[in-house]
Amino acid sequence: MPEVQSDKVAIVGGGWAGIACAVELAGQGVPVGLFESARQLGGRARRVDWDGLAIDNGQHLMIGAYRETLRLLKRLGTFDRLERKKLELVLPGFRLRLPRLPSPLHLGIGLLAANGLHLRDKFAAASFMRYLQALNFKLPFDSSVEELLAQQKQPDNLVEKLWAPLCIASLNTPIAKASAQVFCNVLRESFAGPRENSDLLLNRADLGYLLPDAATTFLGHHKSEIHLGCTVEAVSRVQEGFHLTGPAITCEQIVLAPHPARLSALLAGLPEMTDFIRRISDYTWQPILTLWLRFSATPHFPYPMLALGDSSSPWAFERSDIAPGIVSLVMSADGPHLEQPAEQLRDQYLALLARQIGPLPELINWKTIIEKRATYTCIPNQFRPGNRTPIDGLYLAGDYTAGVDPTATYPATLEGAVRSGVECARLILADRK
Ligand SMILES: Cc1cc2nc3c(=O)[nH]c(=O)nc-3n(C[C@H](O)[C@H](O)[C@H](O)COP(=O)(O)OP(=O)(O)OC[C@H]3O[C@@H](n4cnc5c(N)ncnc54)[C@H](O)[C@@H]3O)c2cc1C
Repeated sequence: MPEVQSDKVAIVGGGWAGIACAVELAGQGVPVGLFESARQLGGRARRVDWDGLAIDNGQHLMIGAYRETLRLLKRLGTFDRLERKKLELVLPGFRLRLPRLPSPLHLGIGLLAANGLHLRDKFAAASFMRYLQALNFKLPFDSSVEELLAQQKQPDNLVEKLWAPLCIASLNTPIAKASAQVFCNVLRESFAGPRENSDLLLNRADLGYLLPDAATTFLGHHKSEIHLGCTVEAVSRVQEGFHLTGPAITCEQIVLAPHPARLSALLAGLPEMTDFIRRISDYTWQPILTLWLRFSATPHFPYPMLALGDSSSPWAFERSDIAPGIVSLVMSADGPHLEQPAEQLRDQYLALLARQIGPLPELINWKTIIEKRATYTCIPNQFRPGNRTPIDGLYLAGDYTAGVDPTATYPATLEGAVRSGVECARLILADRK
């Protein structure tokens, strides 16, 4: 293939980080060339076709604190396909509902009124939040969430019903392994800011509609190009800037926004990145399993999302926005469920669902999707690089970067990815001045 010199910023990877970066740059008059190895954009948050139905590769949940994601969806005109609900955590024998009161009163009153917690659990939870607030949620040192909760004398019942499920849901990492500091960042974002930050935002359109489709239209109107089915195999330095093996182009500025597991191969030819490659290679991964169910009628869900048991059980979401009778069950992180035959797991989860919401309509179809590398294991003191690299003109974006304010570092989430993409674009814009 002949070599092409591109005047556009090259972005490698069309997940939510790469797309957010592309929209931010193109919207500021800097056209991009977006290279995506799959036949569609979206990465780990994408549309999947299920016998003609547009479902998600995995059920995703957003919260009101996802400020950059919400800004992006507003800009692209898809924000109204999110349904906003007050936070309601419902597990068998436990219910926490946050009232419409100013923060942090909403949390205090919500905890006091919670069902399934003893009085001593409620006081312990309030005292834990006060301790974190006094530290502005910045711990003196990082440890596992389990260690932090033990140090703060959080009772077992409270850990089992509140902290462990919250940790798994937000970090996709069990409390024994999860970073206490990143968990505290999530608590600060969700509960210490404006009350709306803790709201749940449920997508009422598939993930492809929410971002990739709308971004494709936007980029098309902003002198940018999207190359699907185009894998960048390696990046090397040339006199004009960077050479991208695969699409065979050279460009002056490049953003690498693939899954972090792909970075080592891409950067192998750049000696300045050796230390980075060594550190990023230490990452390990956590899976997420989604079981899609299609019933003959839409089951009645008393709450928008339901935990079907403790942190070793899935969460259930009613998704009749896709088609009547659709329900998704999501099981986070590693565990014995991944060893079970699919039919057995389906029957076990159906029984848990029926226990929570009563007799189910007839099941007419089902599908399991396992994303083996859904997120990195979010461990204490993890290496989280910035967007800038030691090489001028080479930038990083993705849910694993540290963010401008390292004390607000997110776990692997849509918001982590979008913030990273936007911050990367702002850095590039500043560097071009
Ligand atoms: C099942 C599941 C459920 C989840 N649930 C939630 C949730 O409820 N809430 C939440 O906030 N987050 C959730 N997440 C996490 C969230 O989806 C991710 O953190 C986010 O999508 C990561 O985006 P990214 O752009 O950083 O990376 P990715 O999505 O991995 O994007 C990278 C892109 O780069 C492409 N690529 C890789 N290598 C190359 C190459 N060499 N050349 C060209 N292209 C390349 C890939 O194909 C991919 O499209 C979930 C993830 C999964 C998988």
